[in-house]
Amino acid sequence: MTMNTSSNARTLLLERFGFPDFRPGQEQVVEALIAGRSALAVFPTGAGKSLCYQLPALLLDGVTVVVSPLIALMKDQIDALVSRGIDAARLDSSIGADEVRNVSDRLAAGSLKLLYVAPERFNNERFLDQLERTKISLFAVDEAHCISEWGHNFRPDYLKLAARAHELGAERVLALTATATPAVVADICAGFGIAEADSIVTGFYRPNLTLLTTPASASEREQVLIDRLRERPAGSTIVYVTLQRTALRVASLLAAAGLPARPYHAGMSPEDRVATQEWWMASGTNVVVATIAFGMGIDKADVRYVYHLNLPKGLESYSQEIGRAGRDGAPSICELFACNDDVPALENFSYGDTPTREAIGGLLDDVFAREEGAQFAVSEYELSGQFDVRPLVLKTVFTYLELDGFLRQGTPFYAGYSFRPVSGSFEEVVAAFDVDRADFLRRLFASGKTGRVWTGLDPEESARVLGEERSRIVAALGHLERRGLIELRVADARQRYTILARPDSTVELIDRLVERFALREQAEARRIQQVIALVTNDGCQVNALVAYFGEQRGEPCRHCTFCLGGVAQQLPLGTPLPALDEVVDRSLLQELAAAQPDALGLPRQRARFLCGITSPATSRAKLTRGGLFGALADRHFADVLAWCE
Ligand code: ADP
Ligand code: MG
Repeated sequence: MTMNTSSNARTLLLERFGFPDFRPGQEQVVEALIAGRSALAVFPTGAGKSLCYQLPALLLDGVTVVVSPLIALMKDQIDALVSRGIDAARLDSSIGADEVRNVSDRLAAGSLKLLYVAPERFNNERFLDQLERTKISLFAVDEAHCISEWGHNFRPDYLKLAARAHELGAERVLALTATATPAVVADICAGFGIAEADSIVTGFYRPNLTLLTTPASASEREQVLIDRLRERPAGSTIVYVTLQRTALRVASLLAAAGLPARPYHAGMSPEDRVATQEWWMASGTNVVVATIAFGMGIDKADVRYVYHLNLPKGLESYSQEIGRAGRDGAPSICELFACNDDVPALENFSYGDTPTREAIGGLLDDVFAREEGAQFAVSEYELSGQFDVRPLVLKTVFTYLELDGFLRQGTPFYAGYSFRPVSGSFEEVVAAFDVDRADFLRRLFASGKTGRVWTGLDPEESARVLGEERSRIVAALGHLERRGLIELRVADARQRYTILARPDSTVELIDRLVERFALREQAEARRIQQVIALVTNDGCQVNALVAYFGEQRGEPCRHCTFCLGGVAQQLPLGTPLPALDEVVDRSLLQELAAAQPDALGLPRQRARFLCGITSPATSRAKLTRGGLFGALADRHFADVLAWCE
C-alpha cells in the first residue's frame, strides 16, 4: 500500500469506525484488497473480520457484495453501518417486494456501498442480471469454509459462488472464516483464485484458556459437573450438550442442586430463547445448559467456563465453542467430559446424508429423461419424498450436476399462493378499483380454490385459465398485499433448471456420485475420531488442537490436561451392550419392511431407521413414531448396516 492509501485507511478507521488501531491481520487484508488482489482472512470469531470488507468498501469505487448464510444475524451490523452514514442494505427471503425494488434503485444509482445477500440469491436471474450491470469492487464471502466439501458445514449453494463471482466480473474477492484446516484453506484459495501470500491466518492459540479433558463415564459425568460448578469460583458459564432433552434434564438437575442454571435449545420458543439469553448475558455467574444452537452471534467477554458434557461433533465445533470463553483475556477454564458411549450417536449424524445408489439412479433417470436444452421445474419437497433423499442432499446432487456442466439453475419460484381479504370479503377488495381492473381481479379470485379462510392458486395455472402472463398475476397479488387489501402467503417452492448436456454414460455418472458421497461420509465420521484423539493425545493437547488448524507451536502450553498431569488420558470402555439379535426382533423388522417397501426396502434404509436417523420416507410414513425407530441408536452404523444386509 502506498503511504497515501495506507494513511487514508487509517484515517477512515478512526473517523468512520472510531478505532485508533487495526487488530492483528486486518491491515494486511485491507492492504491486499486495496492493491487489487483477492484475499482470505482466517481470524477467530470476534477478532474483527467484518472490518476487512467494511473499510475497503468505502475506499473502492463500486459496490461491495457480502455473502453470508447468516444474514439474519447481520441486521445489527447493517444498522450500525447506516447509523454511521454508510449506505448498506440486505436482501434475503424476509425482505418484501417494495424493499427489494428500493435496494435495486440504490444499486442502480451507485449510492449503495454494501449489499448483504444470502447465497441462494445467486440463483435469481433478475438479481444476477442487475449485478452484471453493476460495478462490483469487492465480493466478500463470509463463513467461507462452507464452500469446501471437507469443511464442517458444507452448503451446496456456496459451491457455485466462485463461478458466480467470476461471471459477474467481481474485481476482487475476500473470503472470511473463523475455522479452516489447511485443506479447507487450500480449497478456498483454489476456488477463488487467492494467492497463498494473501491468505492471512492469525493465531488460534489462546494463552488464557486452560483446556481440560476428563474421562468420565456416562453415568458419573453429571455428578462430576455439579461438583466442578460448586468447587470452582462462580463465573459466567456455558455447558454444551448434544441433545435438546439433555439440555432440559441437566438444567433442572443443576437448578435442583441450587445452581443458577437454565436450558437453551433450538426447540424452545423464540421468546423463551431471548429471555434465557438475556438472563445469562446480564449476569456474571449464571449457567446456561445449551445445545450448539447457543452461541452464534453472542459476544460476551467474561465467560469464565465452557463445559462439554457430551463430546463435540468435531474439532471445528470444539474450537468455536471453547472460543466463547475468556474473550476479555482473563483466565478461563474449558473442560470436556469424555467417554466412548457418545460416539455412535454422534457418528450417526453423518450417515443420514448418504443417499442410496438406487436413489441417485432414480433421480438421474428422472432428470435425464429430458432432452438437451429442456427447461424444467422441480419441487425439492416432492422429489425428496419420491426418492427418500433429504432435501439438502438433493440440492447437493443438483449442484454437482451443475458444476459438472450438465445443468444450469434458474430463478426459483412459488407454485402456491394463498391469500385472504383483510376486510373479510373479496367484493370489498374489488370495490377499490375501476371496472376493468375489478373484472380482472374477480376472474383472478375465481381461478383459485377457496377454502374456509384462505384462497389458494398456482399462478401458472391461473395464467393459463385467464389467458394472462404469470407475471401479471403475481404482480397483482403483490399489489393488493402492499395496499393492505389482502394477506398473502407463498408456499410450494420450485427450482428451475435447464439441461445443458446429457451424460454419455449415466452408470458412470452414478458411480461418481456414489463415490463422492461415500468419501464425504467417511470424512464426517472421522471428525469424531479426531476429538477422541485429542482427548487421548500423548503430548500437549493445545498444540495438537492448533496444529489441526495449521498452526505450529514449539513449546508445550502448560495449561492443558496433558501438560498439567504429564500423562495421556485413557477413555473408560463403553458400557457393554447385548447382541443386536437380542435387541431387535428380526422377523418383526422384516414384516415392517415388507409393508413399507418405499421407506424400508433397502438395507441402508433399515439401518438408518434402526439407528434413529430420519429420512423423508420414514417421516412421511410416520414410522419414526414406532417402537423400532432408534432401537439401535447407541450402536455403530456400520455394524447395524452389516446386520441389515
Ligand atoms: P468476527 O466477524 O471476526 O467474528 P466482528 O467483525 O463481528 O468479528 O467484530 C467483532 C468486534 O470487534 C466488533 O464489535 C467490532 O466493532 C470490533 N472491532 C473490529 N475491528 C476493530 C478494531 N480495529 N479495533 C477495535 N475494535 C474492533
Ligand atoms: Mg463475523
